[in-house]
Amino acid sequence: KPRVFSAMQPTSDSLHLGNYLGALVNWVALQDDYDALYGVVDLHALTVAPEPALLRERTRRTAAQFLAAGVDPERSLVFVQSHVPEHAELAWLLSTFTGFGEASRMTQFKDKSAKVGESGTNVGLFTYPVLMAADILLYDTNLVPVGEDQRQHLELSRDLAERLNTRLGEGSAVVPEPYIVKETAKIYDLQEPTKKMSKSASNGKGLIEILEEPKKVAKAIKSAVTDLDTEIRFDRETKPGVSSLLSIYSAIDGRSIDQARRGLPGQDVRPPQGGPGRCGGRLPHPDPRQRDGVDRVARRLDTVLDEGAQKASAIARGTLERLYDRVGLLKPQ
Ligand code: ATP
Ligand code: MG
Repeated sequence: KPRVFSAMQPTSDSLHLGNYLGALVNWVALQDDYDALYGVVDLHALTVAPEPALLRERTRRTAAQFLAAGVDPERSLVFVQSHVPEHAELAWLLSTFTGFGEASRMTQFKDKSAKVGESGTNVGLFTYPVLMAADILLYDTNLVPVGEDQRQHLELSRDLAERLNTRLGEGSAVVPEPYIVKETAKIYDLQEPTKKMSKSASNGKGLIEILEEPKKVAKAIKSAVTDLDTEIRFDRETKPGVSSLLSIYSAIDGRSIDQARRGLPGQDVRPPQGGPGRCGGRLPHPDPRQRDGVDRVARRLDTVLDEGAQKASAIARGTLERLYDRVGLLKPQ
C-alpha cells in the first residue's frame, strides 16, 4: 500500500474546524487505502515555548481527538513525534541539504516571527520546515493530507527529496505529493475572514473548537463578521465573511455552495447596526459526540501511542540508516 503521513501540533486544548475539515477528515478517509501514520508533533510545538505541563497535557488530548474523529489505530499508526528520535536525527541531516536562502523564503516563518519580533523568535521556528520534511521523508511518504497553509512547506519537502536523489543516488527518498482538498483547504477565522483559522493566531471568538459546547459554537457563528449588505452570495474578494460561512456550511452539510446559499433564509441576515453585519444563520455545529469520544478513548491512549511509536520507529530506523550510509557516516560495529 502507498503511504500517508500527516501531523498536528499540540498547541491547544482543542483542534479547530480548520484542522478538522482541512486535514483530519481526509486522514480518516485515506486510512482505508493507504498505510497511514499520524503524528502529534510535539517537537514542532516547542518552537512557541509552551508551558511544560500544558504541552504534555495537550499532546495526549491531541492524539485523543485523532481517535475520536475516526482515526483507527488498528489501521493507522498514531504516535508522538518525540517518541521517535529519528525525526530529530533526520532533521539535522536535511538541514545540511537546505539552502539558507531557501529556508528564508518560507512565509509561515515570516508571519509567525513577525508577530513576536526578531528578539522573540528562535532558530527552531526558522528550521521548522526542515523538521517537517524529516517527518515526511522518514516514512518514504507518498501522500501528505494537509491544509493550504502547508503547501509551501510541502514543496520544500519535495525539493529536498529530489535533492537527496540527485546527490546521494536514486532511491534515497520518495518525493511526496500534497493532498489538499480545494473546498476545505483553508477555513477562515470567523472574526477576520481573510485569515486562516489558527490555534495560536486566532482569538477565541474567531475559532470554532471541535470540543466546544454546541451552544457556544452557535454563538460564535452568529457573531461571525460578515458585511454591510444583506445579500448571500459567494465572493471571496468582496464578501469574505459570507463566503467563509457558506464554505463551512457546505463542507459540514455536504451541500454545494449554491445549495448552502439557498438553505440560508434571507431574513436570517440582519441589517447592519452601526457595525459589521452579523449573520444569524442556522449553521450546523460539529458532531457533539466527539466530546464523549475523547473521554472514551483516554484509557486506551497510552497503549496506542506506545505501539504507534514502536512501529513508526522501526520504519524510520530503516530510512535513517539508508541515508546515513549514503552520506558516508560510519556505521557503529
Ligand atoms: P498553529 O497556529 O499552532 O500553527 P494550526 O491551527 O495552524 O496551529 P497545525 O497543527 O499547525 O494547526 O496544523 C495541523 C493541520 O491543520 C495542518 O495540516 C494544517 O494545514 C491544517 N490547518 C490548520 N489551519 C487550517 C485552516 N484554517 N484551514 C484548513 N486547514 C488548516
Ligand atoms: Mg500551523
